[in-house]
Amino acid sequence: MFRKILIANRGEIACRVIWACKELGIKTVAVHSEADADSLHVRFADDAICIGPAQSAKSYLNIPAVISAAEIKNVDAIHPGYGFLSENAHFAEVCKACNITFIGPTPEAIRTMGDKAEAKRAMKKAGLPLLPGSEGIVQSEEDALKIAKEIGYPVIIKASAGGGGRGMRIVRNQEELLNAYHTAQHEAGAAFSDPSVYIEKYLENPRHIEFQILADSHGNVIHLGERECSIQRRHQKLIEESPSPLLTEEVRRKVGGLVVEACQTIGYVNAGTIEMLFDEHSNFYFMEMNTRVQVEHPVTEMVTGVDIVQEQISIAAGNHLRLSQDQVKIDGHSIECRINAEHPEKFTPSPGTITSLNFPNGPGVRVDTAVYPGYTVPPYYDSMIAKLVVHARTRDLAIAKMKRALDTTIIEGIKTTIPLHQKIMESEDFLRGELSTRFMENFLKRQERNV
Ligand code: ADP
Repeated sequence: MFRKILIANRGEIACRVIWACKELGIKTVAVHSEADADSLHVRFADDAICIGPAQSAKSYLNIPAVISAAEIKNVDAIHPGYGFLSENAHFAEVCKACNITFIGPTPEAIRTMGDKAEAKRAMKKAGLPLLPGSEGIVQSEEDALKIAKEIGYPVIIKASAGGGGRGMRIVRNQEELLNAYHTAQHEAGAAFSDPSVYIEKYLENPRHIEFQILADSHGNVIHLGERECSIQRRHQKLIEESPSPLLTEEVRRKVGGLVVEACQTIGYVNAGTIEMLFDEHSNFYFMEMNTRVQVEHPVTEMVTGVDIVQEQISIAAGNHLRLSQDQVKIDGHSIECRINAEHPEKFTPSPGTITSLNFPNGPGVRVDTAVYPGYTVPPYYDSMIAKLVVHARTRDLAIAKMKRALDTTIIEGIKTTIPLHQKIMESEDFLRGELSTRFMENFLKRQERNV
């Protein structure tokens, strides 16, 4: 096992990794920007080092600064968390060159999966079904027109290097196509320094369902069931749950089996998530693979009892998976609400000082956060400040628990998305488990009508 790990991240996920290390008896080093000197991850790590000013590009994304910190502090491994450098193949290569273990997959796997067109090709070959669309990147206007005509409108144009829900354009008819094609290329170039785009069939009311996998370096791969992440705003997840209300045990076993086989075929190692779209008939299509721990990993931990971050560390240290597929049991139901420092109706950021704070507790409640009373939410980073997670025997009981958890949360001094979550927990569609990626759009329209 490792002796000392550096956590190349901040906020709740940096704390989450520190908790895992503490339980495994591994020493930790926090890195932080000047704006984060008073953060909890800095306080709870065994050691800490400042790696630059507030702007991420100069601190958390600054590879030389992170690597220097790792060398000065003499760590064996780096855990990248999610976001920042977690899906940067070059960073994983630099770690390797410096004899520091990157806790994640190989640079090659990160590179392949980071290019979505490439990822689709690899996963098709490995046996996963895809939505009809371009084979790889769309090279010309003629190509775009031809492919869209073949697969039929509506289609979606997506940035091959895309992420975070950005760089997507839905096109409903041929007249809109070329304009959208050029805009998408332009946006992709500006946001990701890579103008490549691909086209696929646009599903009107799909569900976003993803499978969590764990793979060790000895060829063992298992899945930990699925997460339903259909409640999104601007393609960003707001609420996640496990299991999905849609999936039967039979479908779970079938899709889980396929996903495990695909990961075996590509020789994937460490934790990963296969994101898919499901239609109402449980037809499913591979969308993309995330090669890191996900924000929403706690719902899987709650229903399986597996500590995903500890498994990531153990796998990176060369150990065998600590459980087999037969030992994975999905127990009860878990829901996560992402609490953002945002205006709950306008969705605009609301940084500032938290003057008063109470998080819920009691049986079946988990809060992943790095904020505390008097903490100032900086304006420089992601607005998510906490994840409220509940676990109960059934979905209905989990919803009841989430309602009381939200009701007993107090965060004063800043605005948060808690009132929005409270309303969603009362919504008929949500209660019935009738979800789709259009859920929020419809929900917000209904809200507007009621006001
Ligand atoms: P990102 O990596 O930017 O998050 P994804 O490829 O994961 O992008 O897609 C994000 C979301 O966009 C999905 O969860 C879904 O809501 C929507 N989406 C993507 N592709 C399609 C599609 N072909 N049809 C319908 N919705 C889609």
